Amino acid sequence: MKSSPRRVVLGCLGLAALLGFFLTGPVLYRTFIGLAPSAFPLGQPLNDLVKRFFPNLNVSLAGVAWALLPLLAIALASFVLVMRAARRPPALADPGRRGVVAGLGTAVGALALGGFATWLRAFKGVGNEGRGWTPQGTEIFNDAGVVKTAPDPRAEWQGSRIAAYRTLGRTGWRVSDIVLGTGAIRGEDGEAVGRLALERGVNYFDTAPDYSGAGSEQAMGRALASMPRDQIFVATKFCEPNGHLPANAPVADYKRVIEESLARLGTDYVDLVHIHSCDEIDRLMSENAHEAFDRLKQEGKARFLGFSSHTPNLVQVANQAIDSGRFDVMMLAYHHGIWPEIPDIIHRARTQQDMGVVAMKTLKGARHRSMPSYTSGADAYSQAAFKWVLSNPEVSCLVVSFTKPQHVDEYLYASGKSLSQGDVALLEEYDRQIVGTYCAPHCGKCLGACPEQLPIHDVLRYRMYFEDYGREKDAIQLYSSMTERLGKNAAVCAGCSAPCLGSCPIGIAIPQRMAGAHELLTLG
Ligand code: SF4
Ligand code: SF4
Repeated sequence: MKSSPRRVVLGCLGLAALLGFFLTGPVLYRTFIGLAPSAFPLGQPLNDLVKRFFPNLNVSLAGVAWALLPLLAIALASFVLVMRAARRPPALADPGRRGVVAGLGTAVGALALGGFATWLRAFKGVGNEGRGWTPQGTEIFNDAGVVKTAPDPRAEWQGSRIAAYRTLGRTGWRVSDIVLGTGAIRGEDGEAVGRLALERGVNYFDTAPDYSGAGSEQAMGRALASMPRDQIFVATKFCEPNGHLPANAPVADYKRVIEESLARLGTDYVDLVHIHSCDEIDRLMSENAHEAFDRLKQEGKARFLGFSSHTPNLVQVANQAIDSGRFDVMMLAYHHGIWPEIPDIIHRARTQQDMGVVAMKTLKGARHRSMPSYTSGADAYSQAAFKWVLSNPEVSCLVVSFTKPQHVDEYLYASGKSLSQGDVALLEEYDRQIVGTYCAPHCGKCLGACPEQLPIHDVLRYRMYFEDYGREKDAIQLYSSMTERLGKNAAVCAGCSAPCLGSCPIGIAIPQRMAGAHELLTLG
């Protein structure tokens, strides 16, 4: 039976949506974890092929290709099928021209629909128990405007040295409270920054094969050569220069990548090997990875095992890692304003397994926007942020990316210092710069302005859980319980003259935020 053009169009659009949701969405989600090409079917040849067109990209392109190619294929197929259908009886008037237009329209529609389904799955976590990249991406990676380097370095910061060392859990190592992150270290300039930090008392650096396309390990290898090896704690990762090894990589591959790291670092052993940016229990507990680590340990090539995670599945991964008892160290995002589960995870890791806890992403002030100026008399934002992180005694140390000599002076000035009221004020000021979206807990100053007696602060808090903490399900449930309890919700804002407008002392545009909250929280 021949299909009418309309049926063919609908079929193509439906197929594109399914493809986006069930294939490209999950693939894109996994791609953002940073897996090596071998984590994807035909990964290496596909990666090599795509790399011909983008030779300077040092990331795994296989996942991106697997995410995009099916959508392009369905768009192309849609174009051809709709064109052919347009020529069959009952054909469209002028089937040639109109068929091309209909085919193109369907192809664009298939791309848009497939892309939308992909976005829902990969970023919003629909169909993935609410785990998508949007909240974590916003929290961790969207640091546009965060001031990482003080605009006016002070004279007293010059020559700063590490002033405090803390025990890295059961490794027993006394490590500097500020650790040299080498993600952007490369070449002679990077080597000089690395060496300067080590000379100023940093005794732990964190590198990886995929930092600067192996350039970080090479530069740090040269910097390490000038130091007594047994006084520096060196951490690297189970990965290739273009991404993390997948769970099913052979033991030999897991061993090989560390041996290659040793060669780049010019050392016989590393102190710590991380299963890096780990989002999947399979990869965390990969028998091959663990066997490879045990063998490396027996051979004296690696001493401790760790994991790092800053992905949508962080809570599950961290809890499993703690319960397994296999890990000596965990490295996870922790900073002022981080989502609330993180301190609980840290506490469990410390008290139940005596794990070392390395805080990372400490400057990623989430939704912070740049401060117009530094508060007079307070330290730099970076220093306040570090002191806040280190004020938690369960944090062993923090890792931060050093990219220029000023960072050595500025960052190390915070070592061993206590958090002051001025620091807290600075961090809170930063929070206030969240352009009028952060509803302060327990405030309630707007409540009297609402004729509907809506608990505005609760609704905005649920929205924060949804958008910023990655707790979409909780947020939707809380909003739904509130709706049941009150018999109404923020839907009423649509027909309201908004007397609440202007009642918020910190300038939250309440009607818009409430309407947006309703839209988000009734998504499910
Ligand atoms: S817009 Fe919404 S929150 Fe504001 S007064 Fe009206 S009902 Fe209350
Ligand atoms: S006045 Fe502003 S900060 Fe206070 S509860 Fe209302 S919206 Fe939140």
